[in-house]
Amino acid sequence: MKKLNSTVFCYQWRILFGACALTFFIQCTSVRSDKVVKNQYDAQIEMDIEYLASDELEGRGTGEKGEKLAAEYISMRMKEAGLKPKGTNGYYQDFAVKNKDNPHGAEFAQSGEMMVRNVIGFLDNNALNTVVIGAHYDHLGYAHAGSLFDGGNAIHNGADDNASGVAGMLYLMKELQGKYTQNNYLFIGFSGEEYGLWGSNYFTKNSTIALDEITYMLNMDMIGRLNEEGKLSINGVGTSPAWKEEMSDIHVKGISTVTTEGGMGASDHTSFYVSDIPAVHFFTGQHEDYHKPSDDEEKINYKGLQLVLDYMMKLIEKLDDNGHLVFTETKDADQQSRRSFKVTLGVMPDYLYDGDGMRIDGIRADRPAFNAGIEKGDVVLQMGEYKVDGMESYMDLLAKFEPGDTITVKIKRGKKIIEKKVSFD
Ligand SMILES: [Zn+2]
Repeated sequence: MKKLNSTVFCYQWRILFGACALTFFIQCTSVRSDKVVKNQYDAQIEMDIEYLASDELEGRGTGEKGEKLAAEYISMRMKEAGLKPKGTNGYYQDFAVKNKDNPHGAEFAQSGEMMVRNVIGFLDNNALNTVVIGAHYDHLGYAHAGSLFDGGNAIHNGADDNASGVAGMLYLMKELQGKYTQNNYLFIGFSGEEYGLWGSNYFTKNSTIALDEITYMLNMDMIGRLNEEGKLSINGVGTSPAWKEEMSDIHVKGISTVTTEGGMGASDHTSFYVSDIPAVHFFTGQHEDYHKPSDDEEKINYKGLQLVLDYMMKLIEKLDDNGHLVFTETKDADQQSRRSFKVTLGVMPDYLYDGDGMRIDGIRADRPAFNAGIEKGDVVLQMGEYKVDGMESYMDLLAKFEPGDTITVKIKRGKKIIEKKVSFD
């Protein structure tokens, strides 16, 4: 649906009704001031997201026509910004994927079922070290595996996931020209992230610059929904001591950060982490439109997105004279076993919650939590005999239960502590 222009809308109604209704007048005023607030971000960001998340691009399904259009757009913008092509075919790094549905992972090949491309541009400052700034540009098309929509085929526009990150990358590309020149910057639009980090995985195994020149990697995946509290999640700060050191000194009004240590995550920074490169992921949190056709452009918090980018610019500035960052391994070696849990509650955790327990941000119908009467907003404090210390602890605990188990789950709902019997299926 085309975006409704609220100013025009409001103006027409005022002509029709005059200023007779006070409430109506207030509404108009608030739309006006919204507009002022809205101007505090770079307008190009909005244009980029509008295009990338438009129906014309059909949800940018990996290897599909709409995704190719997105790749063309990104390469055109790289060219405009004067970046050097750093793919294998101009800005493109093409590769094929075989056995894409193999649960043990797809294979890369010269030819295969699906042709995929990363888009890569280089801002060369003749420096020794290079910073990788990346965002995946693929999404779910009309509904790949990974869609959480049960209403049949529909375009999954992926405005937050991840037109927001790509627009952020395009902004930084322009903004970093002639600034913080002690590093070079390599910008990469990754493909195939939604299938399993294909683009970043392929890149780290077939890098077009020497991997040991990469000092660190910044990944933007879903940065368009900064909430009212301004909570920005930064994942992977355990991958180098430099992150916390420099971040402790960064203050952007309107942003407060929540960090996690682990380098293994559900997005492209993971591919760099497993290549021993310090890498962090910027993320403004889960929402109910996640992986659904309703992840649309009009829900983007543009001013918030600008604040995230301001934060990132400050971080890049601070790291400019740090030389090659020291890499540290994080304590998520058991991530694989954590991934192998056999049961789930069928809930979406609130990734930005940093109190005790795990707060539920969304619930899937007919899954164990739903069937037990657990609700959105509940905070899970204990599962069986185990205390839940946070989201990561919740994920670990899932591995302790088997299908068929019935356990008591202690939750906090508002001020009350209640218990529910949950049966895993
Ligand atoms: Zn994503």
